[in-house]
Amino acid sequence: MELNLNNGAEALGLWLGKPAPRYTSYPPAPFFHTTLAGNDCARSLEALPLDEPVSLYLHIPFCRALCLYCGCNMAVTQRDARVEAYLETVKREASLVANIAGRRRVSHLHFGGGTPNIMTARAMQDLFAHLNRVFDFNSVHEIAMELDPRAVTTEQITALASCGVTRVSLGIQDFNAEVQKVIQRIQPYDMVARVCDELRGGGINRINFDLIYGLPLQTPETVVKTAQQAVTLAPDRIALFSYAHVPQIKKQQQALEAFGIPDAAQRLEMEQAARDTLTGRKYQPVGMDHFAVPDDSMTRAWEEGTLRRNFQGYTDDAATTLIGLGASSISQTPDGFFQNERDERPYREAVDNDRFAVCRGFLTSAEDRVRAAIIERLMCYSTCDIEEICRKHDFDVNIPASSYPALAAFEAAGMIRREGHVLSFISPHRMAIRLICQAFDTYTKSATGTMSSAA
Ligand code: SF4
Repeated sequence: MELNLNNGAEALGLWLGKPAPRYTSYPPAPFFHTTLAGNDCARSLEALPLDEPVSLYLHIPFCRALCLYCGCNMAVTQRDARVEAYLETVKREASLVANIAGRRRVSHLHFGGGTPNIMTARAMQDLFAHLNRVFDFNSVHEIAMELDPRAVTTEQITALASCGVTRVSLGIQDFNAEVQKVIQRIQPYDMVARVCDELRGGGINRINFDLIYGLPLQTPETVVKTAQQAVTLAPDRIALFSYAHVPQIKKQQQALEAFGIPDAAQRLEMEQAARDTLTGRKYQPVGMDHFAVPDDSMTRAWEEGTLRRNFQGYTDDAATTLIGLGASSISQTPDGFFQNERDERPYREAVDNDRFAVCRGFLTSAEDRVRAAIIERLMCYSTCDIEEICRKHDFDVNIPASSYPALAAFEAAGMIRREGHVLSFISPHRMAIRLICQAFDTYTKSATGTMSSAA
């Protein structure tokens, strides 16, 4: 398979393999600082307009086994009692939030992990009952949960459906048996097919798949095969993520190096091959790395110009406040970001003593918010009218415009076009958008050690 080098080797040299944030927030989370605490978060929640709905993210940081490629904040446990004690703390945290912010209307509720379906069916129902007491779900748009297909049970599906879950994301990664063996995550196609059937039979009809390219033993051909197999199961959305190899942070990833980590050019070939496969089967590309069927709410949001980007990646959620519950979760309010303690023990110590577990965060300035809006628009739509954003924020356009010279090489290489203050990304290599966004980022330019590379 050959690379589609529309823009030539010169363009590739500008971005391929270069580290850049994925911009699920601006500033990116590594730039949060430790001078913020629970009181700052409480003040920000207290100041929310009374009728404003919020979205909730709930982090379940436990798994039964460690996948070698994992980059998540999680711990391995076999003890249900540990999970249940944690859930008691999460319920307490939800009550603390509701005491401050009121019984808010919820727009979206998303469970991430870890493995949220490490919860038993009974624990799920108990947690939902509590959330329903302290928040108002009468006008909720969507309740979604990330699931590990290896752990899904019939009882869980029944419980999830009865709690109002309508969308699930299955971590697929790759269907190739050899790749699954190397990454230590064995889940054959037939198992996933059975789980999809059971979910649909149980009334949970919106199914997302997460795929990863850039893992050891993968080739463009194996990645295409996985994408083809995925499509036969008719997921509504597919997220096609680049493997983030950061062994300096995630030590267990070192074990993958013995099998060879594909380099940036190989990863690009895989991404293009999978992209062509998905778009050839009528999946609409959305943003940098998502694909969705035409009647999916993400496709509609993309078409209507309302697509957003937050800590969960691309979203059709319109709420401007996202409240994170659980260890390491991040809340986003109009004032900025507030992150909970990453580790279970300090998180539980704080909340069990009726304190917010916030340990770091970032209060954004007017300039941060303008730059965030520019970056979010570029990440979602590959084009941005910077003057219009500045007008909305009553901000001097000359300040972000001072970033234009940093984009000159991308313009000369034919990757972007700029007409006045309207910037358009025209390269076929969607992953490179991260580097374009970085030109507007005043924080990351001098610190790239913890970031994965584009493609
Ligand atoms: S199931 Fe997900 S969170 Fe858990 S170890 Fe595997 S990749 Fe990490």
